[in-house]
Amino acid sequence: MRANELVLDWNAFARLFQETCRVAARHRASDADEFNHLAELFGNDPAHSGKLAREYISGTNHQLLITNLQSPISNLQSFVLNNALHPFLAAFAREHQALIDDAAWYRADCPVCGGEPDFAALEKESGARRLLCSRCDTEWTFHRTTCPFCGEQEPEKLGYYPGGHGAYRLYTCENCKRYLKTIDLRELAREVNLPGERVLTIGMDLAAANAGYA
Ligand SMILES: [Zn+2]
Ligand SMILES: [Zn+2]
Repeated sequence: MRANELVLDWNAFARLFQETCRVAARHRASDADEFNHLAELFGNDPAHSGKLAREYISGTNHQLLITNLQSPISNLQSFVLNNALHPFLAAFAREHQALIDDAAWYRADCPVCGGEPDFAALEKESGARRLLCSRCDTEWTFHRTTCPFCGEQEPEKLGYYPGGHGAYRLYTCENCKRYLKTIDLRELAREVNLPGERVLTIGMDLAAANAGYA
């Protein structure tokens, strides 16, 4: 998907954007001022929040300049954007997933929206790695021995730690210091829903951050 193809109900998006800011402000008192400021700046202007959403999808975080802020997009801003866009992008992805040839793609970025993965599963039969898009919940297959964030392939740079339960692992990369939460489906009898697992494993995000991974 190219960013200019993104067509959605910008009024609904603006409402969700504001609501996300308000909820985040309540839970993160130290950042409440910035969240409230963001809600005011973008929430009341659907055309502007549409422009912001397109810029977010088409650029990377470091390249992005938001016109009104004159500064690179911050972690807080991308947190709000990701949450507010998520239901719209996930609906778009569900409609387009059938068009994707998984075996032919094999790239680190999402075949639907170009986003990064934030969760992975090792398949039951083959042990192949399936990635989950942080933006739109699309799942696709990618090399197990390559860091999806920087392309590192040296085995000594790629590590993993067991998570809280047997089936969970934290895969890490010493080159880019990123991590990827992963569930090994070969160790589970139950069916899993990867977007749900992403939320259930928030404790692993905290452990990874404490260990110096981003
Ligand atoms: Zn995606
Ligand atoms: Zn890496």
